[in-house]
Amino acid sequence: MKQMVCSVCSYTYDEEKGIPEAGIAPGTKWEDIPDDWRCPWCGAGKEAFREKRTVVKHRRQHLLKNRTQKSSCRPWR
Ligand SMILES: [Zn+2]
Repeated sequence: MKQMVCSVCSYTYDEEKGIPEAGIAPGTKWEDIPDDWRCPWCGAGKEAFREKRTVVKHRRQHLLKNRTQKSSCRPWR
């Protein structure tokens, strides 16, 4: 399940939740939404949406990696 974010108004479409009030059932894949569907907030088309990435998790792992590298890199005297 992924989330799509409107690049115009940052409205988020969640595949898990769908938009029941717009006739889109929970669990509807982004690809299965009609091409003439429009952002309920600003009216932008599907092409204005970008996939939401979970960057935070990756960044944290990267920080931990750096920390362990630093501690093993002591001067040898
Ligand atoms: Zn929008």
